[in-house]
Amino acid sequence: MMRTVYLNGEYLPENEAKVSIFDRGFLMADGVYEVTSVLDGKLLEFDGHLKRLERSLGELDMDKPEGFDDLLEIHRELVRLNDVDQGGVYLQITRGAADRDFVYPKDATPTLCLFTQSKPLLDTDASKNGMSVIFADDIRWGRRDIKTVQLLYPSMCKMMAKAAGADDAWLVEDGFVTEGSSNNAYIVKGNKIITRGLSNDILHGITRASLLKYAKESQMEIEERNFTPDEAKTADEAFISSASTFVMPVVKIEGETIGEGTPGKVSQRLREIYIDESRKRAI
Ligand code: PMP
Repeated sequence: MMRTVYLNGEYLPENEAKVSIFDRGFLMADGVYEVTSVLDGKLLEFDGHLKRLERSLGELDMDKPEGFDDLLEIHRELVRLNDVDQGGVYLQITRGAADRDFVYPKDATPTLCLFTQSKPLLDTDASKNGMSVIFADDIRWGRRDIKTVQLLYPSMCKMMAKAAGADDAWLVEDGFVTEGSSNNAYIVKGNKIITRGLSNDILHGITRASLLKYAKESQMEIEERNFTPDEAKTADEAFISSASTFVMPVVKIEGETIGEGTPGKVSQRLREIYIDESRKRAI
């Protein structure tokens, strides 16, 4: 099916949306992005994603593109035009097209593009049976708090995981887990939820922020601290969070079975709470 996508002010059939070969997103990964999930045809966590997008642009001195103030309407229109019930809206902003130079161009016009992807988010194999992860060295740059389109290393990590018969990789730096290749990482020990605190070392997950808030409201205990790969392998439970996976149980880490090898109680409860609460707030 041919989707309708959005590019710089226009809704177009996907095969008619074209970007210059001089676009700095293409030449230099000079761009930022967001993925907003869609459930029941409604947007989840839109405000959180918009705020983080604004912050990413600010950190990179990138201008807001034309249409920035209409982003909610553009998201909704794409969901409507493409009849998305479950899936997501991908949004990317680059610094725009300019003759190739490391120095930021003075007068480039930022490129704004969005497209939808329909896919089941609830009742997936991984949500029912859990997923497996391996460890990989975290060799990414030092500003992981900015959501840039430099995704080659996460892509390599997914390939390493696949080659090892696993689903994803958790990244390790200086002896501690930072986060998953495209998600935040958590372990559970004796009912306590443990996840790394916020810094430039990880992306400040929108799902993470809401999840920790809902967990606190449900009187669950949370400890924001670094944890080691060994702690993870011997944890009672483990899970990840991201916009597209919500809360996903991890049942195997580097070949070691976590808990009973099935999604744990805390992870399952958190997934339920997160989906319920987000659904209520969807717009
Ligand atoms: N960390 C990384 C490296 C990610 O790529 C993502 C998802 N894009 C996340 C964490 C989770 O962020 P969010 O909950 O906002 O999707």
